[in-house]
Amino acid sequence: MTEFKIAVIPGDGIGVEVMEEALKVLSVLEEHEQNFVLHKENFEWSSDYYLEHGRMMPEDGLVTLQSYNAILFGAIGDARVPDDITIWELIMPIRKQFQQYVNFRPVKSLPGITSPLSNGDDIDFVIFRENAEGEYSNSGGRMFESQQSEMAIQNTIMTTAGIERIVKAACEYAEKNGKKKVTSATKSNAIIHSMKLWDEHVKRIVKNEYQNLILESIYIDALVAYFVQRPQSFEVVVASNLFGDILSDLGSGIVGGLGLSPSANINPEKQFPSMFEPVHGSAPDIAGKGIANPIAQIWSAALMLDHLGREDLSTKIINAIELVLLEGKIKTADIGGNATTAQMGSAISAKIIEQYALKENEESKIWT
Ligand code: NAD
Ligand code: MN
Repeated sequence: MTEFKIAVIPGDGIGVEVMEEALKVLSVLEEHEQNFVLHKENFEWSSDYYLEHGRMMPEDGLVTLQSYNAILFGAIGDARVPDDITIWELIMPIRKQFQQYVNFRPVKSLPGITSPLSNGDDIDFVIFRENAEGEYSNSGGRMFESQQSEMAIQNTIMTTAGIERIVKAACEYAEKNGKKKVTSATKSNAIIHSMKLWDEHVKRIVKNEYQNLILESIYIDALVAYFVQRPQSFEVVVASNLFGDILSDLGSGIVGGLGLSPSANINPEKQFPSMFEPVHGSAPDIAGKGIANPIAQIWSAALMLDHLGREDLSTKIINAIELVLLEGKIKTADIGGNATTAQMGSAISAKIIEQYALKENEESKIWT
C-alpha cells in the first residue's frame, strides 16, 4: 500500500482553476490503481486569506506543512496585495524552510505544439535552478537622504555549500539520465564576487567528481541568445536563482508557453516535503474565465508522484498529456484552441482511464 499525505495550496487566480484539474487527474489514478491512496488536504492560503487575516498563512503554517509528504501548489498573485508580500510570505518561506534548494524545470518539445522558433524541433533539456540563496535575498536596504537622493543595496548571497549542492544535483541527474554535458550560466565578468565564487566551485566539482561530464560555462546574456538560436544543443543547465528563473520562463516560451511548463522545488535529502508548482503565475488577465491551460499544473503533479517514488504513475500522466496533444482535438486558447480548463483536464483523465482499460484488456487476453 502506498499512501501519501499531500498538502494542496491552490492560491489565487488561475491557480485555483488549474488545481481542480490536477486533483481530477490524481483522483482518476486513485480510482484505478490498487493500493494507492493520497490523503489530500486543502489549504486556502491566498490573497483572500491575506486580506482577511493580515498574513498569507497562519503563524504555524510551516509546522503544519512539515508533516506532509509533498506540497502541490497552484499560483499566487492578486492586484489587491503587493507581489512581494504574496511571494515573500508564502512561496519563499516554504522553499527556504524546507531546504528546497533544487528547482527542477524540464524544457521539452511536445507533440502537436509548434514552437515559436523555426528550428524548435526536439528540444529536450532540464534546468536546475538554485532555489534557496543567491540573488533572491532580503538582505540589503534603502538609504534615504532626501526626496531626490535615495540609494538601494540588494545583496546576493552565495555560499560554497549552496553552490556545491545544486551543482551536484545537476551532475547526478546528468549521469543518471545518460547526459553528457552540463551548461553553467554565469556573469563573472561583471558580477565579480558572487559569480566568480559560483564559477570556481562549479569548475572544481565537475573536474573532481564528474570527469565523464563536459562542462561549459556561458555568460547569461549570450546564453539567452543561444536558447533561441540552438536550444537543441543543451542537456542540463545549472543556474543561480535569478538566472535560473529567467532561463526557465524563456525555456517555457521556446517550447510553447507557460501553460505547459511544470516545476519541482525539491529537497533531495527528503528530510522535508518538496513542493510542485507550475512555472506560471496567477494570470490575472485570464483568471475567472475557465480558459487557462491546466497542463503545467497536471504535469507538476506528475513530477510530484515521480519524487514520491511512483514513476510509473508519473509516466501515465505524461503519456496522457502527450496523447491529448498529439490528437489535437482538445486545445486551450494559449496553444491555439478554444477548449476550457475543465475540458482539457477531463481529456487527460480520459486518456489515463484508456491506459488502464488497455492494460486490463491485455491481461484478460493472457487468461483467456
Ligand atoms: P503569469 O505567469 O501569471 O502570466 C503571464 C502570461 O502567461 C499571461 O498572459 C497569462 O495569461 C499567460 N499564462 C500563464 N499561465 C497560463 C496558463 N496556465 N494557461 C494559459 N495562459 C497562461 O505571470 P505575470 O503576469 O507576470 O504575473 C501575474 C501574477 O502572478 C503576479 O502577481 C505575479 O507576482 C504572480 N506570479 C506568481 C508565481 C507563483 O505563484 N509561483 C510565479 C510567477 C508570477
Ligand atoms: Mn518565474
